[in-house]
Amino acid sequence: MSRETTVQRTVGDTDLLRVRNLKTRFFTEEGQVNAVEGVSFDVRDNEILGIVGESGSGKSVTALSVIDLIESPGRVTDGEVWYRNPDLAAEFGDDPDVGIDGDHVDLRTVPKGVRRALRGPAFSTIFQDPMSSFNPSITVGEQIAEAVEVQRRARSNPRSTRSRTQGYGLVNYIVDGLVPGRSYVDEESMDRAIDLLSQVGIPDPAERAEEYPHQFSGGMLQRAMIAQALAGEPDLLIADEPTTALDVTIQAQILELLREIQDDRGMSIVLITHDLGVVARMCDRVCVMYAGEVVERGSLADVFDNPTHPYTQGLLGSIPDLQDPRPRLQPIEGNVPGLLDSEMGDRCYFADRCPKAMVDCLEKPPEFDVGDGPEHRTRCVLAERNYDPADALSSDRFGDGGESE
Ligand code: SF4
Repeated sequence: MSRETTVQRTVGDTDLLRVRNLKTRFFTEEGQVNAVEGVSFDVRDNEILGIVGESGSGKSVTALSVIDLIESPGRVTDGEVWYRNPDLAAEFGDDPDVGIDGDHVDLRTVPKGVRRALRGPAFSTIFQDPMSSFNPSITVGEQIAEAVEVQRRARSNPRSTRSRTQGYGLVNYIVDGLVPGRSYVDEESMDRAIDLLSQVGIPDPAERAEEYPHQFSGGMLQRAMIAQALAGEPDLLIADEPTTALDVTIQAQILELLREIQDDRGMSIVLITHDLGVVARMCDRVCVMYAGEVVERGSLADVFDNPTHPYTQGLLGSIPDLQDPRPRLQPIEGNVPGLLDSEMGDRCYFADRCPKAMVDCLEKPPEFDVGDGPEHRTRCVLAERNYDPADALSSDRFGDGGESE
């Protein structure tokens, strides 16, 4: 029998990251958009956590919120981001304003500069489109070497957030203009960049390091972006749709590379994708997101073998199964809501698309233990009761806009 989850698991030694009740809002001219709505999850050591959902479900904004990269008009308005870092815990141990729990520090309570300084050595990100992430006028090798250089300088002065984050700075640009041939990166950083290119499988890395982004194929450039992300030897790599822009064979190579890197370095990866095939192939645990909420989470087996939330069932029903080919795939009818606060109401956000919506669903469902595994949870009343057609909502209950009445 399932039961409502009221107590979150305490910080465990194997939790690299523990996110609790994270909320991110965008304050737009149309109104407040609740892009992330009380999201909680853990990232453990040496695991790949998949975050899956349709476009607009809040996957990427969640990841950007964790690493404090939300820009105006957005803002993280609530929640906790516990990161395990004994040095940081010791540094802020006497500060009553900073949340400390053993070796974990609540990053939402440390100064912004410290959060910024963790990008690189703690968290790195790779994005869907590497071409838009590289400067087209600087060689690939030099751009990776710059990332190495920033981290190297930061390590030589670990307490300086400025050296980590501002990296280059106005003075260096002025000196560059005055001293012909001066380079920000030294030979050691360039050698490291070449080494990183070699580690991610770029052939002839020394020669390729001298080339510009447009001389790389999409797959090669994605490898180069991974090399750049590894420059700071991060604890956690956030891979945001890393293979979506690539063709199928290159996708497989990049996924294999990520798996190898994770195994070799023992680091953790958060893999954001809309592709359940990628999740099945790569992930240890899964969070399914819809309308800014985690609606189901658990181990890969929990979610794939016993999907409980109708949205998860819909996602699984809309991918081809080679073992059980069906004549037609089952799409999920309707669209992800716009997430405007004034339109969301206080109900299950999936109710306007859910084939099993009932009167109970007009109240916001809490997160329930599904009861078939230690960490399988779902935000759906079907964990507690069976679907009863007598309680079904009429199909026109939400009108065309899907708004709560
Ligand atoms: S709570 Fe109700 S509407 Fe929401 S997913 Fe479950 S059955 Fe469907």
